[in-house]
Amino acid sequence: TRGSAKRTRKDEIQLLGVRLSNPDRVLFPEQGLTKLDLARFYEAVQDWVLPHLARRPLSLVRCPQGRDDECFFQKHPRVAIPASVPRLDIPEKSGSAEYVYVETAADLVALVQAGALEIHPWGSRIDDLERPDRLVFDLDPNPGIPWKEILRIADTLRKRLGSLGLESFVRTTGGKGLHLVVPLVPEADWDQTKAFAKAVAQRHAKDDPERLTTNMSKAKRQGRIFIDYLRNGRGATAVASYTVRARKGAPVAVPVRWDELNAALRADRYTVENLRRRLSALRRDPWEGFAEAARPLDAQLRKTVGLP
Ligand code: ATP
Ligand code: MN
Ligand code: MN
Repeated sequence: TRGSAKRTRKDEIQLLGVRLSNPDRVLFPEQGLTKLDLARFYEAVQDWVLPHLARRPLSLVRCPQGRDDECFFQKHPRVAIPASVPRLDIPEKSGSAEYVYVETAADLVALVQAGALEIHPWGSRIDDLERPDRLVFDLDPNPGIPWKEILRIADTLRKRLGSLGLESFVRTTGGKGLHLVVPLVPEADWDQTKAFAKAVAQRHAKDDPERLTTNMSKAKRQGRIFIDYLRNGRGATAVASYTVRARKGAPVAVPVRWDELNAALRADRYTVENLRRRLSALRRDPWEGFAEAARPLDAQLRKTVGLP
């Protein structure tokens, strides 16, 4: 049952039926936030996090000794993840590879047990792997870009997508920038979807070349915001809404309403410590209408952005 952690041994606890070893290990030294604290956080926010995360292949950032120690980005974590977490084989260039996914809050606790400090899902579900159901435009500001410029660009990109008939939803990343997420009816494949995201990003950058780039190179990004459309390829990921980042302060990636975006709302505004207060004060889902807003990237729409 919710909220019941059973201490089985001094160095072990059961939460949602999952064994959590070293529950008192500090993962975020700045707050003294422990493994048990993080597991309880996911238990508390499960109804927010699972709808957007469940049944998607995952990459993980694992920091078994905490965020100050060694961390590694893993697509195929294998034996490190408790056997209770579901897996699937996904065809890759040569052969296939095993990915984990989550279905329940207990699976999230099991990821915490494995030292997962970040959870990054694919843009498709395991039931329809080859057809993404969302686009992510990842706005990556170079150091020194004023926050209000990021807000301005988020807004102009939202309008561009709107002019294509696509509704976008915004989230703070817990880091430096913002993500615009566009719900899709699964139809276009990965190559078509990535090409679409690239075309939109390039058109946007072309209208504001002093401020924007779609070029990954460090030199081109100087003084600019990089519109990272590369989140939209097969196997690419973006951090999941309502999950923590392995960064100072235990920030969380958080969906917000467009009218909440203002000078005070920085990308790292919400954390494991303060998110529950926000959620309990919310009267409705900030991304209300997400599922209903889904549109297919059909041939006509792809043509609109200049694709064959
Ligand atoms: P910020 O707002 O600070 O940019 P972010 O989550 O958007 O936060 P990015 O650096 O832009 O961070 O990374 C975008 C995505 O790239 C991540 O969410 C993750 O899914 C993926 N990613 C991160 N590190 C790696 C890595 N080492 N290998 C492959 N993909 C990665
Ligand atoms: Mn980013
Ligand atoms: Mn990026």
